[in-house]
Amino acid sequence: LPSLLHLYFYTQSARTKVVPTFLLLGPSGAGKTSLVTLLQKRSSNPEDTEPALTRTSQVPWGVSLLLPASVPLGSNKYRSRNDVSLKDKHPTRYVMIDTPGHGKLRTDQALSQIKNPGLRGVIFVVDASVLGSSDTSFLRDTAGYLHDTLLALQRQRTGKASGKTKTNIPVLIAANKQDLFTALPTGAVRERLQAEIERVRVSRSKGLSTVGQQPDTDAEEEVLGGGGEDKFSFKLMEDEYGISIDVVGAAVKGDEAGKGVRRWEEWIGGCL
Ligand code: GDP
Repeated sequence: LPSLLHLYFYTQSARTKVVPTFLLLGPSGAGKTSLVTLLQKRSSNPEDTEPALTRTSQVPWGVSLLLPASVPLGSNKYRSRNDVSLKDKHPTRYVMIDTPGHGKLRTDQALSQIKNPGLRGVIFVVDASVLGSSDTSFLRDTAGYLHDTLLALQRQRTGKASGKTKTNIPVLIAANKQDLFTALPTGAVRERLQAEIERVRVSRSKGLSTVGQQPDTDAEEEVLGGGGEDKFSFKLMEDEYGISIDVVGAAVKGDEAGKGVRRWEEWIGGCL
């Protein structure tokens, strides 16, 4: 029993040292800035004297937010029903790191945040209203960025990368703009992205093997999902690397502004 108590206090103090942090990624125009603004509005807590809307100094681009107390937390699953902490529920503080969605800044600034020690999850916002467009440039751009994001997470797990994490960093694909009639439903968003990422993966792995060096097992680590025969799928990332990927739809703005955002908050709560 004493050792259990030690463990309890150890994990409690370890958790308070770093603020739980989420990384907001996705192409320009998907709705990241609009989402942060909405979450800030939903953050207000009359009993909280510390303003929720300030940018934190420790983390670049980090916005301090409060998760409404009514959103269930993943950590509560392990607590007893009689635990006092469930009776006097408080909103939970977390940080959202907004990132630039275009060009070179993706790898230089946005993806470097995957090494953030407080990171609990990645929210990748996509514009569901353009992914089914006959102009496939949106789909290609989105899938290319998502490919690079998942590969960065995979490298963190497999490891020669410095500061690798043993913790699971789950990914939420936030299929935004569900209010627009051209928006693909979440099942179709999943299918299109998986198929397009498979295309990116095949062309990138050809690039690796034509470099002409002798077969190198390290090269498998450089291919998303590993070098296996299976086609790319989100399930493959879960099975091979423990990286869970959920696709959930909502609308941040428009006629149905806010509809579904609660389910994104619940996903965040599940990571806390
Ligand atoms: P960012 O570049 O990812 O930060 O995207 P923004 O937040 O700047 O949004 C890009 C544009 O999409 C803006 O004109 C927003 O008003 C619009 N937008 C964002 N979310 C939604 C949504 O759910 N529905 C609709 N109809 N428009 C949205």
